[in-house]
Amino acid sequence: MSESINEILQDFESYLKFYKKNYNYLIQKDELKSDSVYELDVENDFNISVKEEFTENYTSPKIETVEIPMAKKKVVENEDWKNAKNLLELKELIKDCKKCPLWKTRTSFVFGEGNPKANLVVIGEAPGADEDEQGKPFVGRAGKLLTEILKAVDFTREEVFICNILKSRPPNNRNPLPEEIEACEPYLFKQLELIKPKLILCVGTFAAQTLLRSKEPLGKMRGKFHEYQGIPTMVTFHPAALLRNPNWKRPTWEDVQLLRKEYDKLVKK
Ligand code: SF4
Repeated sequence: MSESINEILQDFESYLKFYKKNYNYLIQKDELKSDSVYELDVENDFNISVKEEFTENYTSPKIETVEIPMAKKKVVENEDWKNAKNLLELKELIKDCKKCPLWKTRTSFVFGEGNPKANLVVIGEAPGADEDEQGKPFVGRAGKLLTEILKAVDFTREEVFICNILKSRPPNNRNPLPEEIEACEPYLFKQLELIKPKLILCVGTFAAQTLLRSKEPLGKMRGKFHEYQGIPTMVTFHPAALLRNPNWKRPTWEDVQLLRKEYDKLVKK
């Protein structure tokens, strides 16, 4: 082993002598920079090439990274519900809906309830805590008040249909987000298409503005009829708002009386 090292060293020494003799140049130790890169090319007669200052002059080529936009995630939903022939079928097809993030926090999907052939549909904003727990619209204190308001003008809950714009509860009863409305309102439109009511009652600003595509405050919308797809639509206060502001009971009373009169005119003729 040591013999072969000696042979290599001797060869190397001969090479340096040859180099000095032919090129009048001797590689000095101090010329060898610590950051130089040496390549020993065995096949080419021990040719030592010195790539000086390799690391100083060398800058790695810039690698340009091009951000490739992700294709927009398209949620492929089963749209069979659009062909539902009745409310039962519709409910069955949409009850596990995950079209917007509200499905993650809901306890129950609240479809709505009442007469599937109702002449009057009552529409609110979204399920609250009680509704989410029981899976029914307008239960709890506000629900009881709605039942009383309807009763005051001779309607029972069973003869009308009651539902909301959103079918899942927004956490902490916050206002629905535009994307949640956009995702959910087609279900309401389908419900109205199937029920074909003669009149609609929107309770609360949110339901009225969403259904009627309006930005007007409730104070300006109430007390008169609007139209949704040719269906006369009355707007009044939400029962939950009446619980906070009893002063609004009077105008609500006036609104539902107008509703009753119109109902009698349309239904009894
Ligand atoms: S709020 Fe409507 S769209 Fe959103 S998950 Fe519930 S049912 Fe689906």
